This record gives sequence, C-alpha cells and structure tokens, in this order.
Amino acid sequence: MKTEQLTLGIDIGGTNTALAFVDREGGIIAKDIIPTNAMDPAADLFKRLFNKAGKIFEGLVKKNYELAGIGIGAPNANYYKGTIENPPNLNWGMVNVKEIVKQYYDLPVAVTNDANAAALGEMRFGVAKGMKNFIQITLGTGLGSGIVVNGELLYGSDGFAGEMGHITIVRDGRKCACGKRGCLETYVSAPGIKRTVFELLAESTDKSKLREASFEGLTSKNIYDAAITGDKIALAAFKLTGKYLGQAMADAVAFLSPEAFVIFGGLAKAGDLLLQPAQKHLEANLLKVFSGKIKILESGLPEGDAAVLGASALIWHELSVNKD
Ligand SMILES: [Zn+2]
Repeated sequence: MKTEQLTLGIDIGGTNTALAFVDREGGIIAKDIIPTNAMDPAADLFKRLFNKAGKIFEGLVKKNYELAGIGIGAPNANYYKGTIENPPNLNWGMVNVKEIVKQYYDLPVAVTNDANAAALGEMRFGVAKGMKNFIQITLGTGLGSGIVVNGELLYGSDGFAGEMGHITIVRDGRKCACGKRGCLETYVSAPGIKRTVFELLAESTDKSKLREASFEGLTSKNIYDAAITGDKIALAAFKLTGKYLGQAMADAVAFLSPEAFVIFGGLAKAGDLLLQPAQKHLEANLLKVFSGKIKILESGLPEGDAAVLGASALIWHELSVNKD
C-alpha cells in the first residue's frame, strides 16, 4: 500500500490552539483543539500540542499516512526567523518556534502570521486558486491582510509586510490600539463599525434599534440584523465601513495591481451590505487602467478550519517550492 503525505497545520490563538492533519488537496484527515493557556510559557503549549498530535498520528500511521512537514500560523510570527515576537494576548515574549519544534520532529517547519497563512490557504485550497496576485483581508477584531505577489507571499525586509489594517485612512482620525491615529482597522473591523454606529447615533435623530444597545453589548451581528430590517443607522454604518474599505483597496491596487481581494472573517458575513459599497468606492477611486478589472470575492474556506488550512498551505507551499 502506497503511503500518502500529510502536513500538520497549527493555528495558535489567544484562547485556543487548533491542529489538523491535512492532505495535499486541503482535505482534513484529523483535527483537534486545545486551550492555549496564554499565561503559561510557550514550551508548555508545544509539549501539550505535540503530545496530542503524536497520539492522533499513531492512528494515521496505521492507515499508511506519513508526515511531510509542519506549518504554524500565529500572531506576530516572523517567517524569516521562525520566531513569534511578543504576541498580543500571549505571555511569551520572544519565542524561537522552529527550535522548539525541532525537539519533537525532524521535519521542515514554517511559521507565519495568521493573516499570511489565511492568504496561502485561499491560494491553495480556496477562491484564489490559480491566482498569482491578490490580497486577502480578514475582518474580525482587527483588519488582517496577506498580500500575494507573483505567487509568493509578500514578507518585506523584516517579515512583517502587509499590515493594511494600519495604513492611515483618516488623518488624525480615531485612536488605534497600535498607538497611531486613523488606521483603517479603527473603521473597518468589528469594533470599527461599532464606533461608527455610535458616532452616527450621536449625530442623527433617526429612530434606531441600536439606540438601546450598550457599546460593550453591541456586536457586528446586531448591526447586520438591524440593517436587514431597514434600520437607517445600521445601513449607514455599513455604507461608511464599505466606503473606507473600498477607498483603501483602491490605494492598494495603485501599487500592487492585484487581480482580486478575498474577504474573510466575521464582518465579511454581512456580504453585499459591506461589499457593494466597497466595490463602488473601489471603482470610484481606481486609476483608469484598473477600471472594471478588480474582483472582490468572499472566502471559499470553511470558517472554523480556515486557519489550520492556511497553516497547512504554508508548509505545502514550502515543500513544493523546495522541490522545484
Ligand atoms: Zn493602527
């Protein structure tokens, strides 16, 4: 019986860490999830993680699978150095992930940040299959982006390229968690649209269901639910969020000329409510040479598995590049 290769995709989050054994086509053969225990040292997480992975793999070996490599997506991961550097929400400081993994496996390992992993997942297994130039945007508690140019992720000189969430969309605008003002993610993200709703509520006298909500209690799902019943404030909030997104996309097109933007994440579930104004303002701000050429696509990956598929795609990509 012929052996089939798998990769191990790992997504390290502030609360949970997910792992999946993934085949070449993006099929998940086995998966599990463990608590990250963010306050404990990184070595502790990897010990529990590889213990779990090892047990799962014992069963897979019997089915003639072999492990080809390990891909890891994590916040503040540095692809070049194989490190995770002072991740937010994790009490780790600087961690050399590649060295830790070597204690357990003598296999190719690659790490990158979660947004980059998502882009690779989309290119290998999702709607960006076959594309060589596109930008992946993840809309959640922040705005993450992964940029693919000529079929390769754009890492930049230090490994941290592609922080589209922190380009300035409004000079001297809203305060951002990064310390700057007016960053795109302070407008286009789940907390960003909440801030917009509260600004619109303060400015207008329109009736709105959202007036009953507290800032902490309000979610982007509530705003979506209000918008589809015709709530003026909610509709205006999506329009404005889409406008900022479209304007920022047009700027990105001017210097990257992508074929498409792939949108993923909680806020992306609003679909046309967000993407129609985004497309409109993208077109309105494009250089003429790009008119009508840039697509906005919704992610093709299942939400719960997208991160581990991305981490797996990272190492599949490395393995295929090194083979050529
Ligand atoms: Zn910022």
